[in-house]
Amino acid sequence: MVGLLAGCQRPAATAQLVPQSIDYLTRGEWGANAPVLPMRSHKLAYLTIHHTATKQLPDKSLTDKMKALQQFSQQESKLGDGRTKQPWADIPYHLYVDVHGQVAEGRDINYAGDSNTGYDPAGHLLVVVEGNFEEEEITAKQMETLRLLVPALAKKYKITADRLGTHKDYASTLCPGSKLYAQLPYFRQLIAK
Ligand SMILES: [Zn+2]
Repeated sequence: MVGLLAGCQRPAATAQLVPQSIDYLTRGEWGANAPVLPMRSHKLAYLTIHHTATKQLPDKSLTDKMKALQQFSQQESKLGDGRTKQPWADIPYHLYVDVHGQVAEGRDINYAGDSNTGYDPAGHLLVVVEGNFEEEEITAKQMETLRLLVPALAKKYKITADRLGTHKDYASTLCPGSKLYAQLPYFRQLIAK
C-alpha cells in the first residue's frame, strides 16, 4: 500500500486540506520526490504546531524551500545542536506555512511524521511555521493564514481545542518558539468557536 500511494498526486483531496483563500502549493507543484522509506499510516487526533527554527527567508521561493527541506529530511543530516539525524521517509511535517503565509504540502497527511525528539508523532497533524519564534516575529501574513488554517483543519479532522498543542507540549524542545507558543490560547479559541 505504501508503495502504491507514495508520490501519487491526488489534487482533489489535497486541495480540500486548506481553505480556498489560502495560497496552496501541492507536492506536484513544488516537484516533490517520492518518499524514500516506508511510512506508518495513522489516524489524526491532534493538531501540533512547530517552527522551522531557521531564519525567515522572504526572498527564497517556497518551491526551493520545500526541495531543500525534503533533501535535508531524506538524507543523513547534521542538526543544529550537532547531533546527526538518520534519513526520514519524507519531510517530517504535513503542512508548511511560509513567511508570506503561503502553504505547501509536506508529507502525505495519511502517514505519521517524524521527529528528532522523544515523542511519537503518530496521530498528530504537523504544521510547521517558517521562522525562529524565539527571536523572530510571526508575520501578519502568517497570522492571517493560521487564523483560517488552524480552525479549518481542526474542523475537518474533528480535533477539539484541547488537542491543539505545540511540539514543546510533548517533548523537551523550544519549538515552536515563545512568540508562536503565546498564540496557542488564541488558536484554541478559534477552534472552540
Ligand atoms: Zn518542532
